[in-house]
Amino acid sequence: MNEAWAGGCACGAIRYASAADPAFSWNCHCRDCQRASGSAFCAVLYVPRAALTVHGEATYFEVRAESGRRVSRGFCPTCGSPLFIQADLVPDLQGLWAASLDEPARFKPQADVWVSRGQPWDCMASPLQKIAEAPNDEEFHALLAHAQARVPLD
Ligand SMILES: [Zn+2]
Ligand SMILES: [Zn+2]
Repeated sequence: MNEAWAGGCACGAIRYASAADPAFSWNCHCRDCQRASGSAFCAVLYVPRAALTVHGEATYFEVRAESGRRVSRGFCPTCGSPLFIQADLVPDLQGLWAASLDEPARFKPQADVWVSRGQPWDCMASPLQKIAEAPNDEEFHALLAHAQARVPLD
């Protein structure tokens, strides 16, 4: 285990730390992430919820994603910084917006997902695997297997 993956919002009202390494990390270019970020994609790493401590209270907004699954995004009610993602796809994990990390350079995205929804003005990291929509089971398990740490999902 590395040092904690710590971060927080712009105003400091919300702080978090994960004692565990990310189970997987990616850039999601879906329309929901575009709207939530006000930009081209969401850079997010997913850590085990059990290893995550949060101080302060995020406000959550839930949407029904294009995949049909529920996705809830957490942000600071004071400064508006996006911080968290909870997705039905991975109920035992919690997404952390990469730029909210104290050391954002530690983020190592493994793939670009939902690239079919990418905007013409989006810039994708060229060496990364490209997945047109949500990853299928095979693609998802390959990502987990090659993540910075292996986390049992059961
Ligand atoms: Zn804040
Ligand atoms: Zn997305």
